[in-house]
Amino acid sequence: MSPSPDVIIIGGGIEGLSTAWALAQRGVRDVLVLERGTLCSGGTAKSSGVVRCHYGVPSLAAMAWNGLQIFENAQDLLGQDVGFQQTGYVVGVGPENVAALEANLAMHHQIGIDVQTISHDDVQALWPWADLTDFAAFAYEPRGGYGDAYQTGQAFAHAARRLGVSIRQDTPVTGITLGPSGHAVGVVAAGEHIHAGSIVVAAGPWSVPLCAPLGLHLPIRAQREQILLIDPGEPIRDAPVFSDLVNLQYIRTERSGELLVGNSDHASPEFADPDHYSNQADEAHIAGTVDKLDSRLPKLPAPALSSSYAGCYDVTPDYNPILSATPIQDLYICAGFSGHGYKISPAVGTLMADIVTRRAGTDPHIRADDFRLERFDQHQPLRSPHPYTGAGQMR
Ligand SMILES: Cc1cc2nc3c(=O)[nH]c(=O)nc-3n(C[C@H](O)[C@H](O)[C@H](O)COP(=O)(O)OP(=O)(O)OC[C@H]3O[C@@H](n4cnc5c(N)ncnc54)[C@H](O)[C@@H]3O)c2cc1C
Repeated sequence: MSPSPDVIIIGGGIEGLSTAWALAQRGVRDVLVLERGTLCSGGTAKSSGVVRCHYGVPSLAAMAWNGLQIFENAQDLLGQDVGFQQTGYVVGVGPENVAALEANLAMHHQIGIDVQTISHDDVQALWPWADLTDFAAFAYEPRGGYGDAYQTGQAFAHAARRLGVSIRQDTPVTGITLGPSGHAVGVVAAGEHIHAGSIVVAAGPWSVPLCAPLGLHLPIRAQREQILLIDPGEPIRDAPVFSDLVNLQYIRTERSGELLVGNSDHASPEFADPDHYSNQADEAHIAGTVDKLDSRLPKLPAPALSSSYAGCYDVTPDYNPILSATPIQDLYICAGFSGHGYKISPAVGTLMADIVTRRAGTDPHIRADDFRLERFDQHQPLRSPHPYTGAGQMR
């Protein structure tokens, strides 16, 4: 590693590592990733890894579509598997959201996403344990599913290292240093000053305290999310991921045969300290989730709670990421993924590498401008043109 790398990336989560790999693929190989703990030990470690393209924001849908194709070909592209389980993906909506679903599918078809509407009978065949009576319409992505975010992050690290990227773990960055003209010139990491041409902050919710001393106030907060693992009574492995936009929860299988159940109701977010939060689901959350699950999956053989945990989304006011240059020259932000960061991670790396190397993107459906930091000050949040009633901004 050179004493002054071209690019320093702060944070060895899935996004920092994807960015490192993408930069190295463009020939920017003198890249140093600094991780305060171990790789992928932040939000990435808690990810449900759901892979779907069902977004209302076209750039996000296109990024997810791009990501899906990288996951499908991970062995060839990254040199190792990323745990992608191509179970398929179903999203169901109530009558109030049918028009939005149709509009979103029309947009998805323009992008080229493999998605179709699917009948109640067909969903019933895929989820025979479900009561589907309160749904009005469904969309089905046969190529969706879920991956392993930890494994995927490690695969990005492996591919980046092969191209010459250096990664240091147990190396917390305590400050970003500015030169006399006010541009970013390096970092202080584990007491050492390291100079670099560009700095990318990819430190999840911890990006905020890194940037605040520079007068750069990132609108990112940590939002605690609780996950339940349910033993259905007999293993279920083949069912598609199910986004239930009536009950506002998502359900996917685990390779163990358990069901992973996550929350899609963000009406009352629980903001938390990402370094100090309860890693167990609360009684009230368990009770509410189990009630919804009982009504949605009444035909499970003998459902019982196996375990629970919690993680933190790094949410922005519009629930979309910040992938952006900043008013400080040579300082870039790659954070605020708001619960979407796994599926779009390959495209995030590409986009960040384009931004840092000042190249135009090649996918006309992915607009770098959508993710600029200034959108918040400009009161131009990135919003879906066809949002789902009740589902907030998460779509
Ligand atoms: C419960 C949960 C479920 C999710 N489910 C899905 C899903 O189904 N599908 C999906 O697409 N996305 C999902 N996500 C979102 C996705 O997992 C995240 O958006 C993504 O993993 C974020 O990656 P990251 O690299 O930005 O952040 P992180 O993984 O948090 O990485 C940031 C890294 O920066 C390091 N760091 C912090 N401060 C410093 C410092 N000062 N110096 C050096 N290093 C530092 C941290 O240690 C950490 O490793 C989920 C997230 C959670 C929490």
